[in-house]
Amino acid sequence: MEALQHIIRPTIGIFTNIGPAHDEGFLNRQHKVKEKLKLFFNTDILIYCSDYQEITQGILDSRKSHHDENNVKFTSFTWSMQGNEADLPIRSVEKKNGATTISAVHHDEPIAITIPFTDDASIENAIHCWASMICLGCEQERIQERMQELRQVAMRLELKNAVNNCSLINDSYNSDLHSLSIALDFLNQQQQHARKTLILSDILQSGMDEQELYQQVSRMIQQKGVDRFISVGQALSRHQALFKSNNELPSSFFSSTNQLLNELSADDFQNEGILLKGARAFGFEQIGNLLEQKVHETVLEIDLRAIANNLNVYHGYLNQDTRIMAMVKAFSYGSGSYEIANLLQFHRVDYLAVAYADEGVALRKAGITLPIVVLNPERRSFATMMHHNLEPEIYSRRLLEEYEKAVFERETVADVEPFLIHLMLDTGMQRLGFEEDDLTWLVEKLKDSPYLQVETAFSHLAASGDDGEIAFTREQIDLFDRMSNELMEQLGYFFLRHILNSGGILRYPEAQYDMVRLGLGMISWNRGVRYKPPFLRLKISRPEKRWAMAGKERPSTI
Ligand SMILES: *Cc1c(COP(=O)(O)O)cnc(C)c1O
Repeated sequence: MEALQHIIRPTIGIFTNIGPAHDEGFLNRQHKVKEKLKLFFNTDILIYCSDYQEITQGILDSRKSHHDENNVKFTSFTWSMQGNEADLPIRSVEKKNGATTISAVHHDEPIAITIPFTDDASIENAIHCWASMICLGCEQERIQERMQELRQVAMRLELKNAVNNCSLINDSYNSDLHSLSIALDFLNQQQQHARKTLILSDILQSGMDEQELYQQVSRMIQQKGVDRFISVGQALSRHQALFKSNNELPSSFFSSTNQLLNELSADDFQNEGILLKGARAFGFEQIGNLLEQKVHETVLEIDLRAIANNLNVYHGYLNQDTRIMAMVKAFSYGSGSYEIANLLQFHRVDYLAVAYADEGVALRKAGITLPIVVLNPERRSFATMMHHNLEPEIYSRRLLEEYEKAVFERETVADVEPFLIHLMLDTGMQRLGFEEDDLTWLVEKLKDSPYLQVETAFSHLAASGDDGEIAFTREQIDLFDRMSNELMEQLGYFFLRHILNSGGILRYPEAQYDMVRLGLGMISWNRGVRYKPPFLRLKISRPEKRWAMAGKERPSTI
């Protein structure tokens, strides 16, 4: 927080609440409050709810302990729902017909706001906003007016498998320009389809002039690269000229959802990413029903945010320049291929590794451009691998010779760059790999080879997660160090080195070399590790429940 404080230099602080999130990194709540407060030391004002004992106490403590320094210089503005001392005591909260009226007293005057939500989190958030606006000197009348106009933030976007190898983003919860822009960005993040289709309804209650509104929609569609536009509603139909002037964008205009359902069928959609974005009144769930793939009784839910989070947890253990190779073999251990690869690419991992060439080909076809290593390259797939720029792991003399031959035979046209390979060194796993006495042979083969270039050399720890095998593991690391140094010296060029898997990252940080290979740690609990990364939620749920990975590749064992 101290580091963040220097970056952000906030002048107004709002300490919203304190709960169990991120407790694991702290001794106790008090410790966490203290850390969070560091963000606010240089603010002019701190707004908080005095019902949170731990926050109130934390502020008292820090004022005491920093008495002489001018560290804590903010004044505070508090609110309370439970009768604690506060600048804005809340007198009543009344929920009625989907709205909540909150009454309070400020400077001895009764004041009130009404918000269009009834859930407690929204009420707390609204009071924080109210308190902040009061601090900023907004007039009560204006606050009142604006609070009423609040709308629900877009529900999280969900990606579903749809008919004919399509993906569907169903966002018919709200419809306005801003949420359309967010949803189009999400659509664009899905690389598995070259073609993107938008199905959009009239935008209701925008408060804008119609012509201006749809002009902006048309511009946005052009900027965000939609390939096909299907519109529903009379307003959009009235303004279709705006979209037709949009360079050759294939578009169709339906006056109602029913007309669309009558004239289009599921087969009008093939291999594309579809964004369904309609105002409530248009009943787009019917279009959703048409397009969604009928899923099985049980589904496996993958929380992609949990994976992103785990990746970040591991990032935290790595040196700044350590690269990450994400092991997505066997369709990411059965949890989906391109969905996870897309996420990893987005989060800038450096390499992906798959078990077999066809997994790599599937990723390439889904638009993944990261370097991809194939752990089990088979002779019959060499040509395919070269064609799709997939790099083999080479683990034996025979494999090296076969691959070299394939490269040689391929090289009929002009000179190509040498093909990149990844050398597996056996340091004790005794499964695959070159041993120490293979090195001379290897160097002879590879030194000055116009066909092959070592991109990385690596080894695999046999018991990195086993605290009883630390001595053995250290021997493995020492041997790897020796062998890879020797190799680099003899070959006379630099290549990347890596030996740690998920379990090893936490126990042998000194052996990070240039890269680590993250596998199960990305998606599951890491046993026996003191800091447990938050793990993936696997749950069996009913098909109607949201995002399912239950498409064609659903592992039969789940
Ligand atoms: C699967 C695999 C990993 C990942 O191991 P985790 O323990 O799942 O992190 C690392 N390296 C190689 C060579 C692998 O095959």
